[in-house]
Amino acid sequence: MSLELVAVAVPVPLYKTFDYLVPARLRGRLQPGMRVKVPFGRRQLVGVALEAPREAGGDLAQYRHVEELLDEETLLPREMLGLARWAADYYRHPPGEVIWALLPGNLRRGQPARLPDDAGLRLTRSGSAALAELPSRKKALRSLLQALGPGPQPRSALPRGPALATALESGWVETVPAAALPFTLAETPPELTPEQSAAWTALQATGGFDVALLQGVTGSGKTELYLRRVAEVLERGGQALVLAPEIGLTPQLVARLQQRFGEGVAAFHSGMSEGERTKSWLRARSGAARVVVGTRSAVFLPFARLELIVIDEEHDPSYKQQEGFRYSARDVAVLRAQRLGIPLILGSATPALETLHNARTGRYRRIELSARVGRGAPPQVRALDLRGQTLQHGLSAPLLDKVQQHLDAGGQALLFINRRGYAPMLLCHDCGWIAPCAHCDARMTLHRGRRRLICHHCGAQQPAPSACASCGGKNLQPVGEGTERIEDALRNRFPMVRTERFDSDRLAKKGELEQLLAGIRSGDIRILVGTQILAKGHDFPGLSLVGIVSADQALYGADFRAVERMGQLVTQVAGRAGRSAGIQGDAAPPAEVLLQTHEPEHPALQQLMRGGYPALAELLLAEREAAGLPPYSHLALLRAESMEAELPLRFLAAARELLAPHADGVMLSDPVPALMERRGGFTRAQLLLQSGSRAALQKLLAACVTRLDGLPEARKVRWSVDVDPADL
Ligand code: ADP
Ligand code: ZN
Ligand code: ZN
Repeated sequence: MSLELVAVAVPVPLYKTFDYLVPARLRGRLQPGMRVKVPFGRRQLVGVALEAPREAGGDLAQYRHVEELLDEETLLPREMLGLARWAADYYRHPPGEVIWALLPGNLRRGQPARLPDDAGLRLTRSGSAALAELPSRKKALRSLLQALGPGPQPRSALPRGPALATALESGWVETVPAAALPFTLAETPPELTPEQSAAWTALQATGGFDVALLQGVTGSGKTELYLRRVAEVLERGGQALVLAPEIGLTPQLVARLQQRFGEGVAAFHSGMSEGERTKSWLRARSGAARVVVGTRSAVFLPFARLELIVIDEEHDPSYKQQEGFRYSARDVAVLRAQRLGIPLILGSATPALETLHNARTGRYRRIELSARVGRGAPPQVRALDLRGQTLQHGLSAPLLDKVQQHLDAGGQALLFINRRGYAPMLLCHDCGWIAPCAHCDARMTLHRGRRRLICHHCGAQQPAPSACASCGGKNLQPVGEGTERIEDALRNRFPMVRTERFDSDRLAKKGELEQLLAGIRSGDIRILVGTQILAKGHDFPGLSLVGIVSADQALYGADFRAVERMGQLVTQVAGRAGRSAGIQGDAAPPAEVLLQTHEPEHPALQQLMRGGYPALAELLLAEREAAGLPPYSHLALLRAESMEAELPLRFLAAARELLAPHADGVMLSDPVPALMERRGGFTRAQLLLQSGSRAALQKLLAACVTRLDGLPEARKVRWSVDVDPADL
């Protein structure tokens, strides 16, 4: 009998897969997508078979044997193996680590994977017979069997308790998969507004692969359209994936989906325990979960019958993984939808420039919702010129007066500042010393509540000093402002009303955000100070004033996406304001959005104030085109860092030499220090690869990346490739 070899992906940082011999006892059983235990060096690893075993001849002495087969059924379907292969190639990441990223922790460690799809229950023939003879005192059992009389039911619709266990044991009741359950809506959907109806018709206009950009502010009824699109899929017995940018936004989406569909809605994100995550993963795989709401990593769930993907807030930077396997969930979703021939909906009030560009060139269809359901359009943003104004903790007198006015009129005010802590610098007024981070090219942020200096880049902490480290002087002053300082200032100025801060420091505890949100809705909280946490998802009908403490930093930011981000955040925050018809917002005065700036004439701000985000996007796209930046070119970044200061640049110089002969149609920058050269004790540098052609860039990476580790200069250097980097 000839021997068989199988290609296995093992979780090691190497750009290859490994062949193993298939022992006779596993012949005919080993399928692609099953996990195996294999020897690797002196270790034993769990890997995944990537292909069907193949006949092999010749000298096979160099190969080792698969030791154990861990799955009876295919765990990763063919579709996932193909997607993983694509992602490993495109993002230039070791294939074993990519496969690894697709598996929840339990399964990585080789724990058995059962694929339960027992979402429903059905009465058996013996159950029907038993029902007729059951004594009436067996109440629970009777009502259970009776409930199943008309047909299969989801577990959730049935009474819980020992009766079910008895019925299952006696064979009176058996489980059925989710797809066998009749599809019913748990609530009647609202009638669509005329604008939603038009959008709905447009959404349905195509079949197969199709990317629709659904552009509309928060509250314009996008989610209602997602729900209807999901309903169509569930009716056919398909599955849907809904992505949200943040863990905090998943509960409300899950709740809405459950309200509409009842059974079969699962969540998947890193805030869940490993056990819960594994369960959702297996339920997606078996089909028991009909809809999954998840964050970034859910784009790699191994659905049995995926027929729709929705990405809410598609512009959000958190869809890009910034460490290790650096993928963009949005881009992976587009590719996955394309491979499966299914529709994808991208929802946002402020689409990414890449997405707008794709809509312009006709690759995506753009569908707009301009009004908010039951409410007017959000107010326009107006500039508040800070030049010549005296500032109290960063707040100008006209802004504070506005807060007063809105409070007097029964409104709520939101002050937005995207920086945590009390102040971003602690300055000695005697000698000019500024508290630095010992490990980064950065200043320590003063957190006054905790009386600590914290570096927001590496996490280093120390007690806040009472004297200058340089001259010993006691005259230390916080410079600039963060959320804590604004909160303090407003509490002092408006002691009669409740002011609350919303940032990740304040909301560390579970359930806290929900409590505070309830306080906002009830009108108990009158002033909100917060970071971008407040910009997303939540709806505040009584909010009448939005004050943006500062946007100036973004105007001078070195990152080419800084202004785009600023425009998105400002627009999102502004969208929180506005009176709602009917509800408690009745009392609120007309909404206003004010943006404090020292540069009211800046073209970007002008565009934003005149024409909103769409006008700003026009300007930015023109700028990007002129500068040859994405979406008009494609980028990859080779990053390097080391504890030894001179090594990263030396490595990148060598890398550049290796790349240069292959760089056909790709521009290579010189190796340069990173924007923050020292971070967390590491010295960092980077090399930018830029091309008008994605294919040319990919070709270069394919030819060279696997050889970088072979460079002598790669020793003692940590390097990584970032394809389509989010920031430079
Ligand atoms: P978005 O996803 O754009 O923020 P939603 O779909 O969440 O918008 O809609 C905003 C609010 O309006 C929600 O409370 C939703 O239940 C409600 N809503 C949406 N569409 C309708 C409709 N056609 N009729 C009545 N209420 C609606
Ligand atoms: Zn000093
Ligand atoms: Zn630091």
